[in-house]
Amino acid sequence: MSSNIGVMGHPIGHTKSPVFQQAGLDELGIKETFEAWDVAPEDLEAKVATFRAEGFIAACVTLPHKQAVMPLVDELTEAAEAVGAVNWIFNRDGKLVGHNTDGTGFLRALKEKAGFDPEGVDAVVFGAGGAARAIVYALKTTGVARLTIANRTLEKAQILASEFSEGRFKPTAIGMDRDELANYVPYATLLVNTTSLGMAGGPAELATPATADMISADTVGYDAVYAPPETKFLREVEEAGGTPAGGMTMLVFQGIEGFEMATGKSAPVDIMFAAIEKALRSS
Ligand code: NAP
Repeated sequence: MSSNIGVMGHPIGHTKSPVFQQAGLDELGIKETFEAWDVAPEDLEAKVATFRAEGFIAACVTLPHKQAVMPLVDELTEAAEAVGAVNWIFNRDGKLVGHNTDGTGFLRALKEKAGFDPEGVDAVVFGAGGAARAIVYALKTTGVARLTIANRTLEKAQILASEFSEGRFKPTAIGMDRDELANYVPYATLLVNTTSLGMAGGPAELATPATADMISADTVGYDAVYAPPETKFLREVEEAGGTPAGGMTMLVFQGIEGFEMATGKSAPVDIMFAAIEKALRSS
């Protein structure tokens, strides 16, 4: 029998979410099992319908369903609408609310794990895909001074920049040529890689969006890529004397944000991180 809380994706075997979510539930004495559901695209609608059942709490949503679930829920939060993806569905008395915690998860990761507040700084986000959308959405709320979006396909960076432009928040869109990057990267104190450069098993695992010679020593370099935990980009940030921060913290904090909205309680953050760190050490 299915539990009332879990994560769904396809495939789902790789997920580490149940490890830290279960640690959180146990610590708070919530008697639920956080399950992992392998849901093929053709079964998605039927699965989501079961989330309306009395007692059902919430589902974390991962690849490839983050967009496909959007028309299947009853209501989308502003974050889900803006990011264009749902990574949590909450059952509120039979009404399904689709939400997105990737952006807020990123900000908490930056503040609570890297000790960095983006207010007033110059930032460069590499990439203009799904992770970039969530991060640009989040940075917009922080009072970041200047934001540059650098992407291989310039047009996608331009679309993202113009979609989120509002008031004083006017991101600049550039391509990924070294010459162009050199006009922005050295002056940024926050660099965020959201491209798949550096991702294990991808075509460019040993690549980086920026090299040490163009990175300033007072920079925090956050890599949304979490596998491997230490990417080429993070090594370049370190070599430049900056502070590297890997994407696992964003992944866990998006889950922690969802946990808190699902349970209505503050998450035992340290216990949840200890659980994932232990699982990663033994995997
Ligand atoms: P996506 O929507 O497919 O976007 C991929 C991005 O990478 C695009 O900007 C793409 O540029 C760029 N790119 C791909 N190959 C490239 C190359 N060879 N050279 C330069 N740019 C290249 O993917 P996504 O969902 O945003 O995910 C991106 C990464 O973030 C993945 O590694 C994913 O695991 C990670 N991620 C982490 C978290 C977390 O919680 N830590 C959450 C979400 C995603 P073009 O537009 O030019 O194709």
